[in-house]
Amino acid sequence: MAEEQPGHQAAGHVDEQALDEVVRFTSELIRIDTTNRGGGDCRERPAAEYAAERLAGAGLEPRLLERTPGRTNVVARIEGTDPSADALLLHGHLDVVPAEAADWSVDPFSGEIRDGVVWGRGAVDMKNMDAMILSVVRGWARQGVRPRRDIVIAFTADEEASAEDGSGFLADQHASLFEGCTEGVSESGAFTFHDGRGNELYGIAAGERGTGWLRLTAHGRAGHGSKVNHDNAVTKLATAIARIGEHRWPVRLTPTVRAALTELAALYGEQADLDTPGFDVDTLLEKLGPAASLVEATVRNSANPTMLHAGYKVNVIPGQAVAHVDGRFLAGAEEEFAATLDRLTGVDVDWEFHHREVALQAPVHSSTYAKMRAAVKEFAPEGHVVPYCMSGGTDAKQFSRLGITGYGFTPLKTPEGFDYQALFHGVDERVPVDALHFGVRVLDRYLRTA
Ligand SMILES: [Zn+2]
Repeated sequence: MAEEQPGHQAAGHVDEQALDEVVRFTSELIRIDTTNRGGGDCRERPAAEYAAERLAGAGLEPRLLERTPGRTNVVARIEGTDPSADALLLHGHLDVVPAEAADWSVDPFSGEIRDGVVWGRGAVDMKNMDAMILSVVRGWARQGVRPRRDIVIAFTADEEASAEDGSGFLADQHASLFEGCTEGVSESGAFTFHDGRGNELYGIAAGERGTGWLRLTAHGRAGHGSKVNHDNAVTKLATAIARIGEHRWPVRLTPTVRAALTELAALYGEQADLDTPGFDVDTLLEKLGPAASLVEATVRNSANPTMLHAGYKVNVIPGQAVAHVDGRFLAGAEEEFAATLDRLTGVDVDWEFHHREVALQAPVHSSTYAKMRAAVKEFAPEGHVVPYCMSGGTDAKQFSRLGITGYGFTPLKTPEGFDYQALFHGVDERVPVDALHFGVRVLDRYLRTA
């Protein structure tokens, strides 16, 4: 072989040390309790310092950035070999959702490694990916690997709440650190989905529904509970809430969901004539079996009533009643979502967005998607890679303000019976060591070719 070419690097592999580090880093990050209870009750700084030290050990110059003391973000850039290439953002959040220790088999912040499994809050969401990113980058430093594109690495605070101290702050106040970035990679995709028919599916996320958390308010005439009252705020609110909860939202297929349905139908030998009049998505979903769960929440907008507040005494009619609804809308279907809410709430109930985040759509016919797919197929040749749209949201929403198209790609190969999706925010969150090894290999492969 002649001299070292970028193509030569692309053919390389992670070393043994990277395989050791991904496990150790996952465990050690879990031991740093970064529980985000919302309302600003979280401290990511120790985890941020941990990550920054390891990036510095790979010869990078990480910056620690805070809007609020203790709510620390880390950003570093690896210079690529091709200065004309667009940069790639690789990001992971450092915070985790709360864990009720009494419900767990192990201390959720022990990071215990038992029988080849790393246990603890953040094992899949998403200290595993943070550890994979650190391990890959450090491996490259040892092997002298440089990517083609610049790679910007961001570890963020506050993803599990408002993102105001995390990716939102970075996008608003530190946009220059992301200069040149056109695409982003983060949670949550490329994990094994066992379809119950012997197939392993790997869904790469190429879109997210938007978030529309709603506050509904009904006003009426306050008064004694024993009197005639046809202007009762509780009755009006209950009527509106029932209409919303029972509403059957129309099917709205985004390009990613269309691709997902088409590929899944082909895998199972089913017809998917998405544009034929009379096409019924629910019939198709039924035929897909368990794999339907990859798409069923993203073929429509949704609005689930979740909270009700009214009254303070049984014989007093309150003048106001309030409810909250968790709404989600697909890319291109937000106006329809709002118009539908106007109709369902009627004239007696006001509604507003209490929190609103954009819907995202990423192309599945892109070289980035193709390279992610190829990286998974190299290490899981038996796997079927399909695109999917996330039903909820991630930091990618905030970074989209910088023109960054986000993908969900956190590769993990897990055995049958290991319910990855149930472990997200779940009890006994854990990740097999083998899954982390697969992840670091696939992420390394993808990033070398990115
Ligand atoms: Zn997450």
